[in-house]
Amino acid sequence: MKPASPKDDASQLDLFGREAQSSLKPVYTAPVWSIPTSPTSNTPPPVSPYVAPPQTAVPVKPRAQTPPPSDQPPKRQLMVGDFVLEYSLRRSTRRSIGFMIDDEGLRVTAPKRISIAEIDNAIRTKQHWILSKLKERRERRAARLEKPPVEWIDGAQLPYLGADITLRLLVGGRNRSSYNPATRELSMVLVPGATETLLKERVKAWYQQEAKVLFEQRLDVFAERLGVRYHSFGLSSAGTRWGSCTVDRKIRLNWKLIHFSQPLIDYVIAHELSHILEMNHSAQFWNTVGLIYPEYEEAKNLLRKRAQELPVLFP
Ligand SMILES: [Zn+2]
Repeated sequence: MKPASPKDDASQLDLFGREAQSSLKPVYTAPVWSIPTSPTSNTPPPVSPYVAPPQTAVPVKPRAQTPPPSDQPPKRQLMVGDFVLEYSLRRSTRRSIGFMIDDEGLRVTAPKRISIAEIDNAIRTKQHWILSKLKERRERRAARLEKPPVEWIDGAQLPYLGADITLRLLVGGRNRSSYNPATRELSMVLVPGATETLLKERVKAWYQQEAKVLFEQRLDVFAERLGVRYHSFGLSSAGTRWGSCTVDRKIRLNWKLIHFSQPLIDYVIAHELSHILEMNHSAQFWNTVGLIYPEYEEAKNLLRKRAQELPVLFP
């Protein structure tokens, strides 16, 4: 299933083709800084059309260790069995103690009237759940950071709808992109001197444009199946949150879902649309999802797995 209709692809290709003959030429297979110098070769290395600024000339940039933002509350410490468990505490008007685990660790939200001793007791009661979630989170984060970022060169493999497509770099009079479903090639035409940063921006823009078209089509299909209407739809790019639905039926879907196969995209869409009827994750909610997407359990697990396998594209 292609996000753009075949007609759109054809017209784009036509437009592309006409100019391609006159002004486009294929380029090299690696940026000039990554071509090893070969003493046996007489031919000079191909010249990069990109004038890479010094900071992008190094293909692999180690991820900076970001210090915790200064508006974070100081961490509290608690002995849990043999562990020193660190957590951040926030007071709120909610009625019960809430636990959340993310890349920063454990966050506790508690009503103002509850004492620290009571909070620590609540943590101890929940320690098995907390420790296993923290471990899971740490492992996932490690797996994510270990992956090398994609090299932005001609021939690079990019994930699109659950399979790889090939990036083709061309030099032309103006920046353009076109995708050929037959060859599964994404051609990015860039003006001479374009930077890697610009290339990445252009690829991201292409992904987002495809996501918008496909997600809207699938939203309409599943909304009709469920017999609901959504108010509006927009793209989001929040870390690992795939979708959201507000009480006023505004749906947001993470454009990065476009990397995954359509059944996984459909699952997130079915999930968010079901929230129009059930604003929670109760059994009734999952029954509703099951009406339009019976294999939701498998899809949910597979989405988690695929998300971990995704190469680092736009760090
Ligand atoms: Zn949900």
